[in-house]
Amino acid sequence: MTEGRSEREALRARLEWLRLLGVEDLPVRPPHRIAAAQAGSSQVRSPAETESAAMGKDRRPVVQAGLFGGFDEVESAVPPGAGRRARGPERGASPLAAVRVPEAPDAATALRFIREDIGDCTRCGLCRNRTNVVFGVGNPIARLMFVGEGPGADEDLKGEPFVGRAGQLLTKIIESMGMEREDVYIANVVKCRPPENRTPLPDEIATCSPFLFQQILAIRPRVVVCLGTPATQTVLGTRDTITRLRGTFHEINGIRVMPTFHPAYLLRNPAAKRDVWDDMKKVMAELKKAE
Ligand code: SF4
Repeated sequence: MTEGRSEREALRARLEWLRLLGVEDLPVRPPHRIAAAQAGSSQVRSPAETESAAMGKDRRPVVQAGLFGGFDEVESAVPPGAGRRARGPERGASPLAAVRVPEAPDAATALRFIREDIGDCTRCGLCRNRTNVVFGVGNPIARLMFVGEGPGADEDLKGEPFVGRAGQLLTKIIESMGMEREDVYIANVVKCRPPENRTPLPDEIATCSPFLFQQILAIRPRVVVCLGTPATQTVLGTRDTITRLRGTFHEINGIRVMPTFHPAYLLRNPAAKRDVWDDMKKVMAELKKAE
């Protein structure tokens, strides 16, 4: 396939996606970021972030033996300049370009407003079998955000994303990157558990994903890691597969996006852990570049 044809198909997929969402192009910058920009700072950091940054100066991310379910190699340094830009969705409109974030003095308040807007949601059929709306958890001003597909049984019961076996593996990945779970933000494309853990349907994703887009824009992380195909296709507004997209940075609204395999896939295919770790090294390098 020629590059021109590939770009035309990518553009057509984005336009179809925007039509599906039926939203206008109303980019909004969260107020706390405006304040940061006016103060001449490109970032707003929590005490936890500041501490992590300080630690990063003399302690680089280390993978400990046994962590991450089988990564026993020890990485003492992040390869410089590992991140690279990709061709594709970042060149045109992204689903996020059309999303309005609630007016709020800070990201935590914006997230609270988004959660209040969701309420006891019945906007799509997934409401019928859920126990809890699983909104998201973590640092409202995280520099790193993980996006999954949807809640499973454990998440549905607890009301928190990634708390089952796949969640425990994600926690190990985060810790292997030299962070705590509380340092990052974790959310899903759909907030209610699909029956039998099936993949969310396109109309369910179209109905619920604007809440995810609002969360991303309220937090404005430096990097969003998309876990698996539905998360990647939703955030990037593409139909390309995870196999084709993973391992390379994309960009939406100035936010770097790294697609990688879902932890549930890693539980079934441990050999793919090495690919995910390669992707996470690029993410760590990107975060370090932005310190
Ligand atoms: S999945 Fe999203 S849109 Fe559907 S009912 Fe749950 S919160 Fe509402």
